[in-house]
Amino acid sequence: MEKRELLDWLHETDERRLEELWRRADEVRRAEVGDEVHLRGLVEISNVCARECLYCGVRAGNAEIDRYRMSADEILACARKAVDFGYGTTVLQSGEDPKLTGPWVADLIHRIKAETGLAVTLSLGERSRKDWEMWKAAGADRYLLRFETSNRELFERIHPAVCGGKPAERIAMLRELRGIGFEVGSGVMIGIPGQSYEDLANDIELFAELDLDMIGVGPYLPHPETPMGRGECPALPTDQQVPNSEQMTYKTVALTRLACPRTNIPSTTALATVNRESGRELGLQRGANIVMPNLTPPEYRCKYEIYPAKACLHETAEHCRGCLERRILSLGRTVGGGRGDSRNWQSRQGDKAASPSLKAEGNTNG
Ligand code: SAH
Repeated sequence: MEKRELLDWLHETDERRLEELWRRADEVRRAEVGDEVHLRGLVEISNVCARECLYCGVRAGNAEIDRYRMSADEILACARKAVDFGYGTTVLQSGEDPKLTGPWVADLIHRIKAETGLAVTLSLGERSRKDWEMWKAAGADRYLLRFETSNRELFERIHPAVCGGKPAERIAMLRELRGIGFEVGSGVMIGIPGQSYEDLANDIELFAELDLDMIGVGPYLPHPETPMGRGECPALPTDQQVPNSEQMTYKTVALTRLACPRTNIPSTTALATVNRESGRELGLQRGANIVMPNLTPPEYRCKYEIYPAKACLHETAEHCRGCLERRILSLGRTVGGGRGDSRNWQSRQGDKAASPSLKAEGNTNG
């Protein structure tokens, strides 16, 4: 899709015309990744964070939240629950917590793989190449790191470097993670003050350029204990500023599916938060094929407040599982079995396996 067409869709607000976009995204989703919805059991393992991201409620400077770090045994218990519930993957997410040391996490991954055989996805922020290599060697399968916005100047403003350090190079990091052998996921927030339509169109083009395996997008939701949530970050004039709306999120999900037909796209909790009734379902009908039910024990879950009034805050893991399964079946879709690796990744593996023989063939042909 040309940039002009992307921008036209991002500006489109007529629900009747948008039906066409929803229909196209849903068709491509069905043709390329099928009707299965894969479930990833999310465990928010620590809300300790060394960073000061202007948008995020668990930023170091927020003195209003209780900090926690789950023990390895507590995390293992959640992973066992994922198995009981039939999920193929567990996702471990946290703030940038220096006490989650490389070896500690590696040991945890070993234990989860040995006991459960689940696919393990990590979302632990910016770490050293050494840690990432150690975690891959320990058996981790995937890494999620959103680049948040492709507008570099905006990113550096909202995601300050850790004191005295260099600005984060998340896009370079995504390439590095791919090189280490991870299935790689990324994504952006929609409607960050200062984010233009042009920026969001660039984000979608960058998703395709990076050939990502997973792409998570959700509306930016203001948290009152953050500088951005207090209104300290200037918005653009209304004709340029992307709104953090539900409709803009569906448009981005749908356009992302068209730009990256074989990637995995979650219908995110942030989307379910802006529309509790049917946000998840509408995401799944407009391009998404993944849901991430929360497995974090309730006493910790309420403390992992990256934005306020998160959907499913007070539910038990059992309740989330039943509720999501019902929602998926009500759409005539099925719950995916197995690991739910990205089709992108699978074809890349196939190419790798095929390349030696192609080379051999090339040689015979002189
Ligand atoms: N520390 C990890 C995990 C962060 S939480 C990391 O930085 O990668 C996962 C995602 O939540 C972030 O990447 C961001 O896109 C999203 N997020 C954070 N604050 C948010 C807010 N106020 N509204 C919406 N999404 C938010």
